[in-house]
Amino acid sequence: MRPLPIRTRLAVWYCAVLATTVVAFSVFALVEMRNTIGGSVDAELRDRLGGFRKLLLEQPPGDSPRGLAAALAEHTGGNDLIRMADRNGAWVYRSPAVDSLEAQLPPVGNVAQPTTIVTIRAGGLPMRILTTTLALQGTAYRVQIGENTGPYESTTARFAQVMLAWIPGLLIVAVTGGFWLSRRALLPVDRITRAARQISVRNLSQRLEVPQTRDELQRLSETLNAMLDRIEEAFQRIERFTADASHELKTPLAVMRTMAELPLRHPGSDGEYREALSGIVRELERTSRLVDDLLCVARGDSGSNALKKARIDLIGVLRAAATQVESMASTQRLSFKREICDGSIWVDGDRDALQRLFVILLDNAVKYTPPPGDVTLKAATRDGLACVDVLDTGIGIDDADVPHIFERFYRADKARSRDAQGAGLGLAIARWIALAHGGTLAVESVRGRGSVFTVRLPAIS
Ligand code: ADP
Repeated sequence: MRPLPIRTRLAVWYCAVLATTVVAFSVFALVEMRNTIGGSVDAELRDRLGGFRKLLLEQPPGDSPRGLAAALAEHTGGNDLIRMADRNGAWVYRSPAVDSLEAQLPPVGNVAQPTTIVTIRAGGLPMRILTTTLALQGTAYRVQIGENTGPYESTTARFAQVMLAWIPGLLIVAVTGGFWLSRRALLPVDRITRAARQISVRNLSQRLEVPQTRDELQRLSETLNAMLDRIEEAFQRIERFTADASHELKTPLAVMRTMAELPLRHPGSDGEYREALSGIVRELERTSRLVDDLLCVARGDSGSNALKKARIDLIGVLRAAATQVESMASTQRLSFKREICDGSIWVDGDRDALQRLFVILLDNAVKYTPPPGDVTLKAATRDGLACVDVLDTGIGIDDADVPHIFERFYRADKARSRDAQGAGLGLAIARWIALAHGGTLAVESVRGRGSVFTVRLPAIS
């Protein structure tokens, strides 16, 4: 079944809550009314009993039961229900109203019994009957008085009828009001939806109007705007990346084209062809490295799932990376030192990715250190972390460049970097790999003195 629209659901909930409240309130009011009326009837009965007691006490002491009966007869009306028996159960007085109802009245009992108040139906009328013992000048009598509660009951019944008649009408008004209210309440949401629909790639910098109402609608607009900020930023990053990547790819392609066109236009010797071809191969190698880096960056953007992690020995990875760059270092007449601790350092990582990270750092150290200089690879564990330092005595990095060197395509020294065959992706890739392993990559550098790149990874036992 298709879920109901939020507007209908709101109205239905509103009506359900209102109906429950109204019904509960009516029942509560009815019960309260009955209790209050019942309480006042009982109080009235006790008052009347008090009156009779006072009256009987005013009779001369030792007055005969007949005298008491006369006093009572004088002070009771035709409809008053009262009867009085002595301790032996013999009637002292029975008001005229008792005659027709006698059969339905509860027994008066004996003088030792406690006071009771009960409700009965007698002669078709609801009645409240008080039965108690009265002590008059040393003699105990059993007295019973009653009160017709019919008028009160009809008041309660009338109240219930009024409630029953009004509740459906009230609910109809509530349903209509509920629909109208929910429509009104959701109008701003419609407005936000319409405004959000207008925003597309073409006007991604546009934002939703934020109502200053300090409520869900303000929060919704602010959240959507924050989301648009993130989308715009990501979009700009992709745009920048695409532009930079195309630019980087265009340069080697243009170089290769020139290299191929020149001997084609001016045919030359075998040696010239060979030189042109080896130049093209060099550019192809560089381009394929660039494409490889671009793929790695793209994989990084898709999350760290691109990594296949396992328990690996970091020392082995470092040795492999060092071997890869060692020959380049010696070609450049640099001294390459390894200060790696004995034993193993276990980490949960992707062997290829980590090797790539250290090759990038070592490769940069060699690239940016003019001879004669030192490149040192240090590894140790500190505070449960595997710490790897790549130190060089090279050109160093300007303070102004340090915050940017991990950005994609950022090259501190553009001309020099291109000579060094860099596209400015290495450190971005290196940092992504470190972060994807729950680690960090930091740099400390002094222009003209050298740099230290430090990788920290969580070590496992
Ligand atoms: P590239 O491919 O240009 O080397 P990277 O992302 O690896 O790109 O490095 C970004 C920039 O950081 C480099 O262009 C260079 O200017 C600077 N850099 C990186 N490593 C070093 C280093 N060891 N010494 C000096 N500068 C460095």
